[in-house]
Amino acid sequence: MSACQVCVVGSANLDLVATADRLPLPGETVLGRDFHEHPGGKGLNQAVAAARAGAATSFVAAVGDDTAADVLVGVMDRAGIGRDLVARHEGHPTGRALIGVASTGENSIIVVPGANHRLEVTDLPAASVVLAQLEVPLQAIVTAFAEARRQGARTVLNPAPAATLPAGLLALCDVVVPNEHEVEVLGGVDTLFDAGARTVVVTRGAAGAELHTREGMVLIAPYAVTPVDTTGAGDAFCGALAARLAAGDTLPVALRAAVVGGALSTLTRGAVPSLPTWAAISRHLPSDR
Ligand code: ADP
Repeated sequence: MSACQVCVVGSANLDLVATADRLPLPGETVLGRDFHEHPGGKGLNQAVAAARAGAATSFVAAVGDDTAADVLVGVMDRAGIGRDLVARHEGHPTGRALIGVASTGENSIIVVPGANHRLEVTDLPAASVVLAQLEVPLQAIVTAFAEARRQGARTVLNPAPAATLPAGLLALCDVVVPNEHEVEVLGGVDTLFDAGARTVVVTRGAAGAELHTREGMVLIAPYAVTPVDTTGAGDAFCGALAARLAAGDTLPVALRAAVVGGALSTLTRGAVPSLPTWAAISRHLPSDR
């Protein structure tokens, strides 16, 4: 297995989006207006984000043996993501999100994790940074981060969607990156430090991000944009952060790029299509970096 700069351990889904004048009530059928299918899952989004942000990226994930898996593998290949460790599980569906959207913008979503819940980490490529989220079995992340530490890789955890973390996971984290809701659910920044996290980055949407160390907090100023669709901003942020840390940036410098990456991702609809390249991010960075 070839070495890489960023290894992402996480979920891959195919999102099926139907729009209609209104959402159906229980037991009701409504006529839809439009239908789109697009790749998703925080793991796949962040792997594409890291690859676009310039990192040689490998993905550790689990898909099923269905046509959705073929679509997702095509997305990985087009992004140039290494997929030696993307396992295909026979007899299990690829993760899917079924999303209904009303003309008011209101939505209802059924997420079927499918093969994502079968992810096991038995092997990890040599990497500078290992990045994970919480849409796969938490034991797989503990195993991956313990192996990353043994290999001397930096570990970055995006604790999304917020969940109760297994004992010992935070002590394996170099950087924990919750958004402002997730940090509350997890009990606040001090709780994360008490559980062993080394640094905590809280993303605050249009207000930018905060870098917390045990010594104090530094604000990473936002990059001002007029957003079109903020879906996937956190994924763009985490992928760019991992890519820049792997490129050798210090954490504060990498965060300047991550803030720009998150902001640029809000300018285009959809998660994967909106993820910016390093060329785009670097154009918007101050020249003094
Ligand atoms: P999530 O998508 O996980 O809820 P945030 O909304 O905090 O995460 O967004 C992640 C990052 O993306 C922010 O820290 C910020 O850098 C950038 N970002 C998101 N929304 C905006 C916005 N409206 N304007 C500028 N930057 C944004």
